[in-house]
This record gives sequence, structure tokens and C-alpha cells, in this order.
Amino acid sequence: MSTSIGRNLGLASLLAGSTLLLAGCTGANFTQHAGTSPDAANAEYLFPPSTHPATTALAEDELRVTLLGTGSPVPSSTRYGMSTLVQAGGLNLVFDAGRGAPVRMTQAGIPLGDIDGVFITHFHSDHVNGLSDIWMTGYVPAFGGRPGDLHLYGPTGLEELAAGLRHAHADDIEVRVADGELERHTTGLIAHEFAEPGVIFEQDGVTVTMFEVQHDPDHAIEPAMGYRVDYNERSVLISGDTIPHENVIKYGTGVDLLIHEVAEFEDITALPEVYAHHTNPRQAGEIFTTTAPRLAVYSHIVNGTSSVAPGISDEELLRRTRENYSGPLLVGQDLMSFLITAEDIDVYKP
Ligand SMILES: [Zn+2]
Ligand SMILES: [Zn+2]
Repeated sequence: MSTSIGRNLGLASLLAGSTLLLAGCTGANFTQHAGTSPDAANAEYLFPPSTHPATTALAEDELRVTLLGTGSPVPSSTRYGMSTLVQAGGLNLVFDAGRGAPVRMTQAGIPLGDIDGVFITHFHSDHVNGLSDIWMTGYVPAFGGRPGDLHLYGPTGLEELAAGLRHAHADDIEVRVADGELERHTTGLIAHEFAEPGVIFEQDGVTVTMFEVQHDPDHAIEPAMGYRVDYNERSVLISGDTIPHENVIKYGTGVDLLIHEVAEFEDITALPEVYAHHTNPRQAGEIFTTTAPRLAVYSHIVNGTSSVAPGISDEELLRRTRENYSGPLLVGQDLMSFLITAEDIDVYKP
């Protein structure tokens, strides 16, 4: 059983997909900026279909993963907030809903109405601040029109979050229903809350297991969870925000794709509080060596914090990981996809 990674599928530019994003801006005054040709400006509004691999049919035994956002709380335009799309068995499952997740979903060509479940690792804002956008933009018919409730899955606290969102945004539903734009039965937000880790989702051959991790040395940030998804002997693990944890070893050993968070700064003493709440690349290298995934990938990359603590290059991040790991490894990028079958892991790099 060979593993081929790193192959760029050579699909067309993702920029075509980004043109969908302004679909809601009807009626806005449009100002053409210097340096933008009229054709280029108009192209924003032509809405060609996405050519991202997430839109193509999966092989029968395939598990497919797309990184929707690979960033941290830093409001970055290149690394959006943490979010990962897992496709298998005809389902579109989203893990965490950070800033901009609906934008990346649209670029990937998946209508927001086609999401079958959103799984939350913990309640830090960078993991949930795209949730109301997924929910509310997703029930607008023009954006794929969710046919019914949006289902959330996660640890204790999820129902309170959902209740708060329903309360905060009740007026959007009321006015859109009154306006004839929406049918009320499409606007539900349903929380499936689990006090205990374990298998929390089984449907169409897809199993999702939630496991505990540890976000900080003092257990101040609880709950904090990671997820493993299994489908037809294929598997992916998403670490959640965590310091090195035995459950990542337990559930991650031998997985096809191990997606791990990482934090590193140019000066690792710059922000000790932040550094102590995550896994550094040398520690991650040890985890990858122990778990031996077919492919290890970084996402939720805390690489400096704006101007306060400069980060490092991807090459340096890899070099620091390589001190303890010599296997397959990539630094994730937004909209990077992994097409996982028994034979191969094909990597699409945007
Ligand atoms: Zn966190
Ligand atoms: Zn986070």
C-alpha cells in the first residue's frame, strides 16, 4: 500500500470560486479602484462555478478533507479562523466554525445549505465566530437554502451557545419570514450536546468520535475536545486546541491524516501564556513520530501574533518539527484538500 502525497492536482485557480462571495451585495455602490480593469472588476459578479476538488464526486471508499481555515485568533486575510470540512459517505461535516468559514466553503463550491453537521471542539471565539454566519447565511435560499435545521455537535456548553445565538438573531428570522424570504422550518439551530466523550455521531458509514484534550496546564479552559472521523477504514484526526496530550496519541496512532495545531514564535519566550496553551513544533514532531500517520498536517497555526510577537517561516516551522520527525508532513493552507483512499493521499494545494 503506497502513499503518494504532495501531488498538486493542477486544477484551475481558486480565484474563480471567490467571485461568489459578493452575491449578497446587491444595491451597494460600487467604486472601481485604481489599477483594476473594468473586466477584472466585473468578473467579481459573474459567479462561475468553483473548480475546487471539494465539488467533485468522491470515490466510493474515499474520505476527503479540506482545510477551510488554518489560522488562530489573529484576523488574518490569508489564514482564516479554524475550520475543517470532512466529506465522506455523502455527508459534509464541518469541524469548528472560525472566522470566514462560510467564505471558504463558498470558494470550495459547497453550498452552506449542504452542511450536514458542525462539530465544535471548544468555545474560544476563534472556533465559533463563524457559526452564526454558517447558520444564517445558510438558510437564505440564494446561498443554497438549507432545507431544515442546522445541527451542531459538541461538548457541554453547546446548547447554551445555540440558545444565545437563537436569541441574539431572532429578529433576522422574524423579518425574513415576514418578508416572505424564508420558511420558518429552515431556520432551526439544534444543539446535540454530549457531556461525555466517545462516539457522538454515526450516519451513512461515517463515525465521529469526540475525545478530551487539554488546552492549558491548569485546566482552566474546559471543555476542550478533539475529533476523529472514520469512514470505510479511512480516518482523520483533528487535535483541537491542546498541549501535547495522550488522547491524540491514543486516537491518532495509525490514522491516515493527522491534523494538529501548532504554536511557534521567532522568540519563544515572547508570549509565555500563549505558548503554554498550545503544542510547539518539537513537541508535535514527537507526537507525529509516535502516531505515525500516513500524513501529518498543521492547521490552527499560531505563528506569531501580529506585531507583538513575530512568527517564523513555514520552512523554519518544518525544520523545528524535523528535529523529532522525519515522516510525511505539510504546513496547511486555507483550501488545501486531501483526497484519501486506500491507495493514495492526493494533496491539492491552492
Ligand atoms: Zn482555544
Ligand atoms: Zn484556537
